[in-house]
Amino acid sequence: MRFRYLFLLLIVGLLVACGGGNRSIQVAADQQNVEVVSAANEESQQQEVILSESAKRLDSLGYVNIQGLDSTIEVEMIYATSDNFVGEVLYDDLTEAYLLPEAAEKLVKAHQLLKEKHPEYRFVVYDAARPMSVQKRMWEVAKKNGWSHDYVANPAKGGGLHNYGAAVDLTILDENGVPLSMGTAFDYFGKEAHTDKEQELVAEGKITEQELANRLLLRSVMKEAGFTSISSEWWHFNHCSRKVAVEKYQLIE
Ligand SMILES: [Zn+2]
Repeated sequence: MRFRYLFLLLIVGLLVACGGGNRSIQVAADQQNVEVVSAANEESQQQEVILSESAKRLDSLGYVNIQGLDSTIEVEMIYATSDNFVGEVLYDDLTEAYLLPEAAEKLVKAHQLLKEKHPEYRFVVYDAARPMSVQKRMWEVAKKNGWSHDYVANPAKGGGLHNYGAAVDLTILDENGVPLSMGTAFDYFGKEAHTDKEQELVAEGKITEQELANRLLLRSVMKEAGFTSISSEWWHFNHCSRKVAVEKYQLIE
């Protein structure tokens, strides 16, 4: 009787142990499932963050997200922050740089040319496709502050090449992610930022030889890839003329 009791106890003990073992296997499997599900959730959340409403709209219109073509190009949309000449956030949700497909391909080409010359350098894009709604707000602020019309395209006259996804604002980052010195800040509106009389700027001590060399490096790779520069802003490059843009492309509303 006593032995039978002990035997029963042993069986019960074994059953509990086995049951416990199965349970821990089940728990481990459940944890794994939870991990898989939460990883999937994180992924879908990330996708939601990556594609803003403006980005989805630009995607649907056929514009190309630069980082989708070359993820090594840095993008810091300056008008998505208040750290710009306007001092206000102009892009409510657009943190991605979009361009016309042909312009985006040129930019990737220019970036390759830069890396061939300086593997440690990379581009940082500050602005690209700019919807007309943003252009109107920028114009209002510029008008209010008495800024020159040379720097902000009048939306009543059809805007500028950014509004077609045909212009890009950018500079070069060094190996530490620091922008190369170009003699003025980005969006500095004055003759020190002009590109047509740079030798004079050097002679007058307004910019250094090295700063001029940095600008020439940026211009040389952009021009080799097919962009044109303008006389008033060292950071701005056009994919085509305004006339061609008006004939060939749509304004981004
Ligand atoms: Zn520009």
